[in-house]
Amino acid sequence: MSDHEYDLIVVGAGPAGSSAAYAAAKNGIKVALLEKEENVAQTVRTSGVTWIDYAKEFGIPEDCYNPIRTYNFCSPNNIASISDDKPKAAVLDVRKTFRFLADQAKKNGAEIFVNTNVTEVITENGKIVGVKASSSNNEMVFRAKMVIDASGFQSVVSKSLGLVKQWKRFGVGAEYEAEVENVNADTWWLMVGQMYSPAGYAWIFPLGKNLVRIGVGIGKPESEVDPTERLDELIEKGVGPIKDLGKITKKEFHYGLIPNEGLSRKTVYDNLILVGDTAGMANPLVLEGIRYAIKYGRVAGDTASKAIKSGDTSEKALRHYEETWKKEIGPKIKSAHKVQAKWLKLSDDDWDKEIGIISNLTADEFLDFIRADFTVSKMVKLATHHPMLAVRQFFNIVKGA
Ligand SMILES: Cc1cc2nc3c(=O)[nH]c(=O)nc-3n(C[C@H](O)[C@H](O)[C@H](O)COP(=O)(O)OP(=O)(O)OC[C@H]3O[C@@H](n4cnc5c(N)ncnc54)[C@H](O)[C@@H]3O)c2cc1C
Repeated sequence: MSDHEYDLIVVGAGPAGSSAAYAAAKNGIKVALLEKEENVAQTVRTSGVTWIDYAKEFGIPEDCYNPIRTYNFCSPNNIASISDDKPKAAVLDVRKTFRFLADQAKKNGAEIFVNTNVTEVITENGKIVGVKASSSNNEMVFRAKMVIDASGFQSVVSKSLGLVKQWKRFGVGAEYEAEVENVNADTWWLMVGQMYSPAGYAWIFPLGKNLVRIGVGIGKPESEVDPTERLDELIEKGVGPIKDLGKITKKEFHYGLIPNEGLSRKTVYDNLILVGDTAGMANPLVLEGIRYAIKYGRVAGDTASKAIKSGDTSEKALRHYEETWKKEIGPKIKSAHKVQAKWLKLSDDDWDKEIGIISNLTADEFLDFIRADFTVSKMVKLATHHPMLAVRQFFNIVKGA
């Protein structure tokens, strides 16, 4: 048994945890970042699509991602292909990026404990004051003034405290990283309709050279289909744009879960902050959560370190964090849920029509939509002034949300 004392414990070295540890350590407090795997990002559970403006804002080096400037979106009988002059989306080298984020935390003084699986919480007077973890054959105790739960979907700390239950609505994704014969490295494919995914979508995301990630995401409990089985079927039959990839040599399998319950969780308690997937921060339309995990991971680390320095780590002192993130992305998540509810009801014929409408969007309109950057003023403008009636109707669904 070994005992450790810190100002702040961050559980989970995903993008949220590493970013929280970085921001807190930068403010001069003593931070421990605990990760259960043997290395940061040992297991990849994400497709890694993000946006170049965010990557630049976070200081993620350019060699961590492959830029995308053509967005193909297909249904069983239709294709929208939207090209931009310059790339705005990016497919991350997930390991390199997540390790870069953890390294930033380390360089600023955070201590990273890998192979350290948090199993229990320690409380005093009903408040968290530390965690217990197991590592190889060692039991470890970490005590601190505050804890940040960044353990992702599992939400190990919040669950152990009885503050949250397992997510009931979530997405499940299965994906192969593979070498293929033919691919446009700056072009992605999103594929919708029953044959691809009965409640979700399939994708081809290029990583540069001849590498791609081919995957299927399925919403639960809406569909019982197993994404791994569906993915194998699509590859075996060479469905849609998968056929054009030529020979597919699988290199690595990725599998993961992502919450899809919007703003249902409270994210601050005495001595505790929830962030990233633990807080349910993903954009539900395409189940995209990395940029919010990094952005609000930093806000969480900054808030926690300031509270620790001031000697007040009560829920009241931390409330600013929850108010900030819910104000900034809450309306976007709610609007994205509305669009998702509509998309879940579409038949293949409806999808063919929807794709026809989407093909009339400019690259920026498409990206705002897919990123769920639904500011009310932008949506009202598109719903009332877009030159095409069908597009106006398309945007009406998110207007005013
Ligand atoms: C199939 C799939 C595809 C996705 N594609 C995209 C995409 O293209 N773009 C995008 O932006 N988002 C995508 N997402 C979502 C994105 O991956 C998440 O929103 C993001 O990773 C959340 O970051 P996080 O740090 O909160 O959690 P995570 O990335 O899950 O990190 C949590 C960390 O905590 C560690 N941990 C867990 N339990 C413990 C424990 N008991 N003790 C110690 N450590 C622990 C884990 O090992 C992990 O390292 C996808 C998700 C899935 C499932």
